[in-house]
Amino acid sequence: AAELEAHLAEAMQNERTEGKRMKNQNAPLTLVAGGAGFIGSHLCAALLARGDHVVCLDNLQTARASNLKLLEGHPRFEFVKADVVDPLPASITSRAGRFTRVYNLACAASPPQYQEDPEHTMLTCVVGTDHLLRLAEQAGARFLLTSTSEVYGDPEIHPQREDYRGFVNCTGPRACYDEGKRAAEAMTFDFARTGRADVRVARIFNTYGPQMHPDDGRVVSNLICQALSGRPITIYGDGTQTRSFCYVSDLVDGLMRLMESDIDGMEPINLGNPNEMTVNELLGHIVELTGSGAGVEYRPLPVDDPRRRRPDISRAAALLGWEPRVDLREGLERTCAWFAGELAAPRVAAAA
Ligand code: UDP
Repeated sequence: AAELEAHLAEAMQNERTEGKRMKNQNAPLTLVAGGAGFIGSHLCAALLARGDHVVCLDNLQTARASNLKLLEGHPRFEFVKADVVDPLPASITSRAGRFTRVYNLACAASPPQYQEDPEHTMLTCVVGTDHLLRLAEQAGARFLLTSTSEVYGDPEIHPQREDYRGFVNCTGPRACYDEGKRAAEAMTFDFARTGRADVRVARIFNTYGPQMHPDDGRVVSNLICQALSGRPITIYGDGTQTRSFCYVSDLVDGLMRLMESDIDGMEPINLGNPNEMTVNELLGHIVELTGSGAGVEYRPLPVDDPRRRRPDISRAAALLGWEPRVDLREGLERTCAWFAGELAAPRVAAAA
């Protein structure tokens, strides 16, 4: 949590030095739906550090309660427990006119988690995005949807550019998320096309770092936690499938640049690290960093698991001047150190 704490320390310092300007009434009001999650909590911290008043809306379905604890002491941070599928609570709608930015990060994003209640996943993407877009419309706020590399499905084009339309199985177990996000994108662009909201759409590729839920089932968290605790390391399929992993601070930087940029909001933007590797190569790095002697247990490849994934980030580079800076070894080192601390701490810290 060192990074999050550094953000908070910086925010507290701003509070002291900039005094009145930073008072709650004058700070820009930003809504972060899904702000208690892995990426959301880092985004909230960065927005607080910048001087925003942050309202975090989360149903705590997959979030770690301890992510919130790090933020909750901050005078410009508010937490509202609600599900975006339900009508937005009065504590938010009563201030609709004051929001200037609405970030939508609300949705379980790890395959085993978003498949647990697929109907809710689809509704979160579609109905949740509709509720937040309507709020942005009412507020005259800029809206950012966090979409996903999963809109490309199991891609036939490599690396994936934003104009590639994807190869998604609309009847498979991943469809609740993939098609949900595709529908959320369609709705977001319709709001923009009809002049109802100023929008931005980020397509997020695999992201890792501190504050990930140790039990969320994704490859980086699973492999590190298994390596650190000496449990067998689970590799699905033969481990030759590829992914490209982006460190969370780089991703948050990309999201904020996208939100603040004056680009034409009708274009989605890939955000991710183009450093592609096989799952076996990732395993090699983690074994080396942790010195783990744990054995490998091969399991069947999940249905519709994409074979290859790598973002083409030339659009983000050209339009936002953005590219990832944290190299994989450095990012994995920080993540391993953080998980080592988490696993040593009482399990209550990891409870959702
Ligand atoms: N994977 C794995 N072992 C695990 C978890 C995941 O080999 O314990 C594989 C998974 O099948 C996929 C890749 O790692 O090919 C990335 O999976 P993840 O769930 O992190 O994200 P995805 O990119 O599939 O959404």
